[in-house]
Amino acid sequence: MKAIIIGSGIAGIATAIRLSHQGFAVHVYESANGPGGKINEFVQDGFRFDAGPSLLTLPSLIDELFTLCGKRPEDYFRYVRLSKINKYFFEDGTTLEASADVNAFAEEVNKVTGEPLVHVLNYLKKSESLYRLTAPVFLKQSLHLASSYLNWPAWKAFLQLYKLDASTSLHTRNEHSFQSEKVVQLFDRYATYNGSDPFLAPATLKVIPHLEFNTGAYFPVGGMYQVIHSLCKLATEMGVTFHFNTPVEKILIHNKSAAGVLVNKKEDTADVVVSNADVKNTYKKLLPDEKQPGKILSQVPSTSALVFYWGINKTFPNLELHNIFFSADYKREFDYLTNKRQVCNDPTIYVNISSKVQAADAPAGCENWFTMINAPYDSGQDWKKIVSESRSAIIEKLSRMLNSTIRPHIVSESILTPQDIENRTASYLGALYGSSSNNRFAAFLRHKNFSSGIRNLYFCGGSVHPGGGIPLCLLSASIVSDLVRKRKV
Ligand SMILES: Cc1cc2nc3c(=O)[nH]c(=O)nc-3n(C[C@H](O)[C@H](O)[C@H](O)COP(=O)(O)OP(=O)(O)OC[C@H]3O[C@@H](n4cnc5c(N)ncnc54)[C@H](O)[C@@H]3O)c2cc1C
Repeated sequence: MKAIIIGSGIAGIATAIRLSHQGFAVHVYESANGPGGKINEFVQDGFRFDAGPSLLTLPSLIDELFTLCGKRPEDYFRYVRLSKINKYFFEDGTTLEASADVNAFAEEVNKVTGEPLVHVLNYLKKSESLYRLTAPVFLKQSLHLASSYLNWPAWKAFLQLYKLDASTSLHTRNEHSFQSEKVVQLFDRYATYNGSDPFLAPATLKVIPHLEFNTGAYFPVGGMYQVIHSLCKLATEMGVTFHFNTPVEKILIHNKSAAGVLVNKKEDTADVVVSNADVKNTYKKLLPDEKQPGKILSQVPSTSALVFYWGINKTFPNLELHNIFFSADYKREFDYLTNKRQVCNDPTIYVNISSKVQAADAPAGCENWFTMINAPYDSGQDWKKIVSESRSAIIEKLSRMLNSTIRPHIVSESILTPQDIENRTASYLGALYGSSSNNRFAAFLRHKNFSSGIRNLYFCGGSVHPGGGIPLCLLSASIVSDLVRKRKV
């Protein structure tokens, strides 16, 4: 049996490993000249940068792939648990360090904002119990098969549907949970972890802090690209064949069944085809003659990002690995992103500095700043103007909040826009996480991991169920692998 996978993003590689473990001969076709998709790295003027993701949660899902194949994960991939998760900077000069220790975090929040400890601890407890209730039903299996609902965890979840809190927005729930506006903003920010707007996204997203605080935030030794490097090593050992610089031109359909792909104008046949490419582009470009699932494909894309990769010839002892500089008015910031589809002049800025934990990532006395703001998906905005205005606004804000002039210390620079993200990874309109979760039915409106109309065609990755971000992409691979094994669809 042969499987073809379109795309070598994290979900494509994980699916390749799982299907080769099932005994398939697996071929992965990738348009780019190397694996990883949005997870990438580059070195510039002596600075190493993780180009995409910088925060790793649930590394056990990566370990699971090595264990599945009878290998010791630590022989391939190592990571350290962070003792400090984020450092938050507020416009009034307040700073707050989020320790990985939940009690220490609650105490710090109380010291800095006056928020009662119990509010934070209760919130994180609820976040954990929501994860335990929802993960088996909504994240670890297909939502689109009747059989998924015929088990006790599913019944338990349905009996407790009210706990999902889906008809309240995350912001409203946070306002009811906390007294301090700063704490509300801190917990609102988790909506951006899947490209959503906290003022619209359901309060179900309060499940996300559980992954950072209770299960932990991690840094992979060697940087984020080691995730891809180590998984590709495993895949190759399992017999997977990668074909880089080889875009798939079409998915071949015979008698309503996927029969292979067209590459370099030649047909390559297979028993199973899995698309790890963005689902909207899969339908538009690779299945142009097939019925398009209009409602699913018309969902609003998630936010994108504008990233400045800066080599800084100075060290900042008051910064950590993950730093967040909040905007003064979060509501206004999201009004710009969601409604105006623009970047506001006071964006929340995320600065990730991997050289804080891995000194070799920057020359001595220097730091590598991955400086990111949320940006709308590409809808024809003037990105040259946005980049120029945002660059000035970011430099001004960081200089003010750090009490240090930044501009003269930027000695190396690269920029990533939503258009670059689309051009490099074929992500529809440059969205980071497929469609947004800005409505309560979003989880059900993501495309399923299989096709109802075309047999032997499957979908994995951040644009389909269960969603974007490394952990959910890995879960999509696991779901596809289960579906293929059971051949229920
Ligand atoms: C700037 C940025 C920051 C992020 N931060 C985080 C973070 O901190 N933590 C986190 O968990 N997630 C983060 N994410 C999101 C995370 O990177 C993605 O959700 C995840 O990597 C998507 O993986 P995927 O499997 O969907 O494939 P993708 O990475 O989208 O890759 C798809 C691959 O398919 C290939 N392809 C497409 N069409 C074809 C074709 N026709 N033929 C052959 N190949 C094709 C593309 O070239 C690409 O390599 C971030 C993303 C970005 C861009």
